[in-house]
Amino acid sequence: MRPPHPDREESPAVPTGSAVPTGPSPLTEAPESLAARAAALDAADPLAPLRHRFLLPEGVVYLDGNSLGPLPAAVPAALEDAVHRQWGTDLIRSWNDNAWWQAPLRVGDAIGRLVGAAPGQTVAGDSTSIHLFNALTAAARSRPDRPLLVTDPDHFPTDQYIAASVARLLGLELRRVPARELSGFLAEEGGRVAVAGYGPVDYRTGELYDMAGITRAVRDAGALMLWDLCHAAGALPVRLDAMGADFAVGCCYKFLNGGPGAPAFLYVAARHQAAFDHPLTGWNGHAAPFALSGGYVPAEGIGRARIGTPPMLSLLALEAALTAYDGVEMEQVRAKSLSLTGFLLDCAATLLDGLGFTPVTPREPERRGSQAVLRHPEAYGLIQALAARGVIGDMRAPDLLRFGVNALYLSHGEVLTAMRQLRDVAGGGEHRADRFRQRATVT
Ligand SMILES: *Cc1c(COP(=O)(O)O)cnc(C)c1O
Repeated sequence: MRPPHPDREESPAVPTGSAVPTGPSPLTEAPESLAARAAALDAADPLAPLRHRFLLPEGVVYLDGNSLGPLPAAVPAALEDAVHRQWGTDLIRSWNDNAWWQAPLRVGDAIGRLVGAAPGQTVAGDSTSIHLFNALTAAARSRPDRPLLVTDPDHFPTDQYIAASVARLLGLELRRVPARELSGFLAEEGGRVAVAGYGPVDYRTGELYDMAGITRAVRDAGALMLWDLCHAAGALPVRLDAMGADFAVGCCYKFLNGGPGAPAFLYVAARHQAAFDHPLTGWNGHAAPFALSGGYVPAEGIGRARIGTPPMLSLLALEAALTAYDGVEMEQVRAKSLSLTGFLLDCAATLLDGLGFTPVTPREPERRGSQAVLRHPEAYGLIQALAARGVIGDMRAPDLLRFGVNALYLSHGEVLTAMRQLRDVAGGGEHRADRFRQRATVT
């Protein structure tokens, strides 16, 4: 192995207010210019003040917000109020007096703004897995003459497991078709497809697919489109209404920073709501829940997608977390996210040269989600050793190092720090230390 790439990046920063370099960046560049670029990009970053909306620990570069977003500064006080005043003092009156009952739709609308959904189409609560089951089943039931359910063999496991179960339950056939082969498949078999369930971003590689194109192809085939936005909501602009998506689900603990196990969301396009026949007909979705009648009559509108009593503390934490997006447009988030991931790939190309890394995330902006991924056979040890140095990313077996970026709190300077640390770890063989070795899992 070659020694670490020598560099002298400690050159003076470009003065504040200088123009941000634009245009395509060279794949490799003099390492000393990386620090100058980071400083210039950060000085010109209109979203830089948003970092104060988060409570991040000192000395940590957090590149795992695509798994668990950090703590938004508004959350502790909101939870304190939810626990002491709303629960502790107002007690059961909070369902009315503190508008707990309305929270799933109110929070749903706040999420809707970030995913291109007009009010009245998004509900918050339950988990992504539960929403997937509900939406896939309802979608398939509304296309009773079509025997196929289609999903991505590279989709997150829960999406595949639930699609398989729904297919079994309804007597359908599950086909696994990679996103890039879907339009060809639909040209052949589209007339037999009830619903297609896909994610816009590959959770491992960070590749972004053409959401609008896929939605169009699915709808042109007369099938229904269900998007799983777990790796897109809060990370990049999604235009559910404008694209004509039929259904969408997503979790709120990744880019939306709603906290561990935060309630997820379900979008049902307004045109489908009257016929939305989902299997989890809980009493919260009843037209008159407090009539407590024995027969189920669904509520009008998105309210029928509610199931049972929502987890109020988590829902209020999520509501507070979403205020981190107040006054922010997703286009701004996207511009900075692309800048961060692009810069990370540039840093990797320069600083990690000769150390055995291969970039996996596509370079083209239109094919890149909000994470940058590198392949290395020793990914596990590298991620562990990096974390010990305060740079938190994660890995996906067997060999992917995943670095999620969130434009609300990360800087280009931190991205550079992370790649310098990775260079030092890999160059020095630090990741081969016994304490970073993968232990065999005992089952
Ligand atoms: C994170 C993620 C999930 C998680 O589902 P839960 O029900 O919250 O555990 C599902 N699908 C995708 C695509 C994900 O990225």
